[in-house]
Amino acid sequence: MDSKQFREAAVSSIDEIVKYYDTIEERRVASTVEPGYLRKLLPEEAPQDGEPWADIQKDIEAKILPGITHWQSPNFAAWFPSSSSYPAMLGEMYSTAFTGAAFNWICSPAVTELETVVLDWLARAFGLPACYLSTGPTNGGGVIHGTASEATATVIVAARDKYLRAVTAGIPGAEDDEEAREDAMAARRGRLVALGSAAAHSATKKGAQIAGVRYRSVPVYAEDGYKMTGASLRRTVAELRARGLEPFFLTATFGTTDTCAVDDLESIADVLAELQAEAEAASGSRGGDGPPGEIWVHVDAAYAGAALICPEHRGQLAAEAALSRFHSFNTNLHKWLLVNFDCSLLYVRDRRPLIDALSVTLPILRNYHTDSGLVTDYRDWQIPFGRRFRSLKVWFVLRTYGVRGLQAHVRKRVAFAEVFAGLLRGRPDLFDIVTGPRFALTVFRLRGGGGEGATATLEEQNDLTKKLYEAVLAEGKIFLSSTVVGGVYAIRHNPATPFVEEHHVRKHFEIFVEAAEKVLSSQ
Ligand code: PLP
Repeated sequence: MDSKQFREAAVSSIDEIVKYYDTIEERRVASTVEPGYLRKLLPEEAPQDGEPWADIQKDIEAKILPGITHWQSPNFAAWFPSSSSYPAMLGEMYSTAFTGAAFNWICSPAVTELETVVLDWLARAFGLPACYLSTGPTNGGGVIHGTASEATATVIVAARDKYLRAVTAGIPGAEDDEEAREDAMAARRGRLVALGSAAAHSATKKGAQIAGVRYRSVPVYAEDGYKMTGASLRRTVAELRARGLEPFFLTATFGTTDTCAVDDLESIADVLAELQAEAEAASGSRGGDGPPGEIWVHVDAAYAGAALICPEHRGQLAAEAALSRFHSFNTNLHKWLLVNFDCSLLYVRDRRPLIDALSVTLPILRNYHTDSGLVTDYRDWQIPFGRRFRSLKVWFVLRTYGVRGLQAHVRKRVAFAEVFAGLLRGRPDLFDIVTGPRFALTVFRLRGGGGEGATATLEEQNDLTKKLYEAVLAEGKIFLSSTVVGGVYAIRHNPATPFVEEHHVRKHFEIFVEAAEKVLSSQ
């Protein structure tokens, strides 16, 4: 394809993409293809000769779109959104045009420098404490990863090595002998435990598996709104320490996946400080291994972190107070802030543990700028080596919408969820809200067995809600996900997609009412 053919193909593709977006609502939101559908439509072998673009483009509608679930449709209310915007798409286009591996500053200085600038902009826009700024007082800063799972695995590795270095620091011979230090760290590693609440995303468990450490969950309770409390954390840490295990890492969640609960960050910070003081006092009187190291706290705000762009949502995070006592923070711009997948922001209070754990400098990577210590080499802040120019799409989105535009985007969707929840509350004969609305997520169930004062068992209620969920999904007008919270089967409704309007949410409610009446009348 030469530049003339590229121009024609690109114009035609953009026309098609714009048409797709303009008419997205007319498409059935979820794909209905059977597994293996595509293999039947494609040849056994790759083509031997090249084909004209027009033929390739035709297959988008014919072969690919049937297998696409339309995440940008206003009728998509499942999981969390994966948002999209035209400026972010343009960012992707330029980024791919300048494509390179960009592992070090010298690879393309703009890739590193724009990333540092937009991450500082966003830290300020989210009201994060100064320790997460690249220019802050604690040598911290931000980096863009692909996903929250990647960011979590990365900080678990950094926390693991920081912890092990701290607790093996006094071992004779290990101070100046890297191999002896490595042996001491490896011997102690078997005791380490990463923690998350029972409602935390599986990313922490997966990160623990990758880092070769145990994972345990801290119980959460319905009466606490499914948030992790300091008291529950205290019990879990005490039990583990009594068994000779060493919790070294904790994920606290701002907006859990099931219900958007916010862990009690202040009480978590207080309990961890108390536990540390108690452990140090106890170890002073006991001798032995010395006190356990500090527990690294990572705040996972993958979805709900976007709401921090609105000052009214920061109270729940107690942002300045709690976050400045923790070690890292992560949010996905690709969920709710109009930046196309993938774009996950990771902020650390101190960049050194990341670099200590992940920096491997080969002779081929040495250069004057790295040696000068004046530049950031983001390869040391992540697991992969090469990296994409993701900050460009962030910059385009921030400049196109401004912070005010993004605030309006979030506020509108929070208001739509309030409308939806208000409608559910208006039909207590049919629906029960299990949690929310929180950050535009409402979790609800069908109230079976005769309205208020229902006598149906939990199992019967769960069965009815499942029937409602399956009926709505089969009808295909909206797409949702379900969950089980504290034994209750429930439906999640999260209208946070880019094109959703209030009339869509009202329509979703009508669909639920109609289906609920059918399910109940067939009982
Ligand atoms: N953390 C939370 C709270 C989530 O809800 C999710 C996904 O929905 C994740 C982490 C994982 O996100 P990613 O797909 O970016 O790894």
